Amino acid sequence: MQQFQQYIGGQFDAGSAQFESLDPATGTVWAKMPEASVADVDRAVQAAEDAFFAPDWALISASQRGKLLLRLADLVAQNAPRLAELETRDTGKIIRETSAQIAYVADYYRYYAGLADKIEGAHLPIDKPDMEVWLRREPIGVVAAVVPWNSQLFLSAVKIGPALAAGCTVVLKASEEGPAPMLEFTRIFDQAGFPPGVLNVITGGAEAGVALTSHDKIAHVAFTGGPETARHIVRNSAENLASTSLELGGKSPFIVFEDADIESAVNAQISGIFAATGQSCVAGSRLVISSKIKNQFLARLKEKAEAVVIGAPDDMATEVGPLCTKAQRDHALALIAASTAAGAKLVTGGSAPDGPGYYFPPTILDCSDAPEAPCLSREFFGPVLSVVSFDTEAEAMKIANDTKFGLASGVFTQSLTRAHRMIRGIRAGIVWVNTYRAVSPIAPFGGHGLSGHGREGGLQAALDYTKVKAVWLRTSDDPIPDPFVMR
Ligand code: NAD
Repeated sequence: MQQFQQYIGGQFDAGSAQFESLDPATGTVWAKMPEASVADVDRAVQAAEDAFFAPDWALISASQRGKLLLRLADLVAQNAPRLAELETRDTGKIIRETSAQIAYVADYYRYYAGLADKIEGAHLPIDKPDMEVWLRREPIGVVAAVVPWNSQLFLSAVKIGPALAAGCTVVLKASEEGPAPMLEFTRIFDQAGFPPGVLNVITGGAEAGVALTSHDKIAHVAFTGGPETARHIVRNSAENLASTSLELGGKSPFIVFEDADIESAVNAQISGIFAATGQSCVAGSRLVISSKIKNQFLARLKEKAEAVVIGAPDDMATEVGPLCTKAQRDHALALIAASTAAGAKLVTGGSAPDGPGYYFPPTILDCSDAPEAPCLSREFFGPVLSVVSFDTEAEAMKIANDTKFGLASGVFTQSLTRAHRMIRGIRAGIVWVNTYRAVSPIAPFGGHGLSGHGREGGLQAALDYTKVKAVWLRTSDDPIPDPFVMR
């Protein structure tokens, strides 16, 4: 059985306690993971704080930080097959997706490598002739990063990349479900040449998470996960008045008008809800469809959903693999039962197959006559699509915005004017028009409401890891005038 190690202050160790990690494809134990104790968390935060002030990190140039990140990006690309394989093994995410996503991970580190020496301060045209005033952008401090199981390498890169580009140091808590790829990542990180303690990676559950996010040496908490955990995170961070960025879940509308290119929209919907076995925060989990094309669209969607290749996650031919945990599968089954009891009709799927592993088939629920069905408001985080129809554009907009989440959205139409009206009216952090599930390091990513706040990706993400210092320098040699009056 493989034993993974945590990474604190540039050293690897197996931790004082371990827990077993299950292979989601078989439900059997395959590896042992170090479980961070409160003392381990404290050690990791101390290492990050020491590194933050150490001259070999605090005093190197931004360009040098960029070069280190560039080396890391190259190492990630070189080690891509191993990282992808481990993510697939420990989380059940299909190899087709982990192999493709790891290329993006390298790209994100490359993007932030390039950005490191472009985080600029400013000179102010101050309204006093004897003063020079400028702004320095300085790293915010020690960052606590907490990530969920899905896409851990990716969700960590969007935090570690900008944080290190800005000059921060990081303690990352990998998810207790499937931490192997992040623990393996530290072996690669270690070769890039960063000083010890710049990045520390531990794992464990809520206890380690609480210890980390309430630690009094943490300046910023970057969190990805569910809204309920986010509430705890905000309370924890209040201990230290640390700032937070929260990337949470969604119930994203996928809106198809009658003038849409049907085949293209069906394909995008298949990708939007069934890719990554639906375990995606941006999953287009509410199909909002024009009643004029509903039957035609659903028939084609059902046909394609039933043709999806379900299989072992490490098989390149597989399109839908197992869910990450048994709890996820139980949650999907319970939510489907509650929704059908509320009047939603099963179009396809809906039950878990017999046999080992946490497999779940592509499922479609027609809620056109069940507007109160819980599947329309609650996140599955699985391959389950809820369908609701509309007659007018105003109705489509109303349904799209009838959610407490606000992460992503998709609009499918050939009408340019309608597309613009929808873009303006939809309350979400991302609007994809005639496409879905496209990402880039250059574009910010994040949501509103229960989908969280703050943005990852793009320039703004790096600025969020900085604080502004205003510097005042007096240029006059004359004595300071009246010392009892504010200048
Ligand atoms: P989760 O909220 O249960 O756990 C996320 C992380 O928080 C884990 O590392 C967990 O150990 C830790 N944690 C749990 N309790 C904690 C506490 N009290 N204090 C500190 N840390 C604590 O999320 P999950 O179930 O692992 O992941 C699924 C959720 O993540 C979904 O809601 C999904 O939409 C969301 N997600 C969002 C994005 C995004 O970018 N917006 C991306 C992926 C996943």
